[in-house]
Amino acid sequence: MTEDSSTLHEPKRSFGFSTRAIHVGQDPEPMTGAVTVPVFQTSTFAQEAVGKHSGYEYARTGNPTRTALERAFASLEEAAFGVDFASGLAAEDAILRLLKPGDHVVMGNDAYGGTFRLISKVFGPVGVGWSAHDLVDPQELEANWPKNTKLVWLETPTNPLLNIFDIAAIAKIAHSHGALLVADNTFATPYLQQPLNHGADIVVHSTTKYLGGHSDTIGGFVATNDAEIDGHLRFIKNAVGAVRGPWDVYLTLRGAKTLAVRMDRHLSNAAAVVDLLGSNDAVATVLYPGLEGHPGHEVAARQMSGFGGMVSFRAAGGRDAAIRIIEATELFTLAESLGAVESLIEHPGVMTHASAEGSPLEVPDDLVRLSVGIEDEADLLADLVQALRSGL
Ligand SMILES: *Cc1c(COP(=O)(O)O)cnc(C)c1O
Repeated sequence: MTEDSSTLHEPKRSFGFSTRAIHVGQDPEPMTGAVTVPVFQTSTFAQEAVGKHSGYEYARTGNPTRTALERAFASLEEAAFGVDFASGLAAEDAILRLLKPGDHVVMGNDAYGGTFRLISKVFGPVGVGWSAHDLVDPQELEANWPKNTKLVWLETPTNPLLNIFDIAAIAKIAHSHGALLVADNTFATPYLQQPLNHGADIVVHSTTKYLGGHSDTIGGFVATNDAEIDGHLRFIKNAVGAVRGPWDVYLTLRGAKTLAVRMDRHLSNAAAVVDLLGSNDAVATVLYPGLEGHPGHEVAARQMSGFGGMVSFRAAGGRDAAIRIIEATELFTLAESLGAVESLIEHPGVMTHASAEGSPLEVPDDLVRLSVGIEDEADLLADLVQALRSGL
């Protein structure tokens, strides 16, 4: 078995973010000079002699298109290692396989519904314990540290309530108890936040979202500076076959080249949307870490370089008003997912977070979640103004 990206030769920090997104792992192809990484659509690789090969043997184990993405994305997280997975959840599954029966995982009390389902319904029944904590106050976790905790799992900003957790403070507590900290960086993206630099041990992404950025493929990614964890992830990926085809990998790699310019536009459009929502009678509360009144504003300003493109709000008229607003938008498309060029709107309670109903991660039923896209600001604002009338 050959593992293909255990060494990262490219300079990690000497170039700026966009330069790394476009160039790391993506030198011109040596045979032809093609400037884009080819889609190596092959399942196997010819060997020169028995046991003598190019570094690639079989495409479940390694594929050059995938190697390019892994090097590029590791450099975006300023990480030594990175592994591409079939989906965000396949990536999470590989991380959770670090646990054994009897181990415990601590999660934040607001998280992607699928993460909660994976931990509680797949790992729970085979003996992994879990508990949900309000990590906004890390001292609560310190005071109630569950025994046998091996992993602390957080998202920040959280999905869908946009709470902020202090990565450095939580990493310190986890490490003092000998546990690892996993940070889901899907909402922030490496452009706005690098959790490993704040003490997290493992960063996970659904690259389906901002990294890919075009709503055209599913993918996951894990970055770490720990060679042993990287070895575990590669072993699991190969052993269970949680891989993507090279065409999907190529689309994600292509999407990420423009991450920085897309994020700048997501940020400015989100700021305009937050302003508009803040003064609309159909809106009870706007949830956005960029607001000075947001309880996590100071921590967010410290650990992020921008507050992101996701905005949630609670409808003043309750659940029915929330649903009327969501169904009245024309430009904001009613759909699950987030982080792509087009603006999306959804009702987490019924859609993305239905699996959390009745659990500690249940979300309010008057909540509306917006993924603010990169269309023209004026068009987005006009659509929201007309839709919010349905909420009065
Ligand atoms: C979508 C999402 C996931 C799951 O990723 P998939 O690519 O859909 O498997 C995990 N975490 C967060 C925060 C997400 O938004």
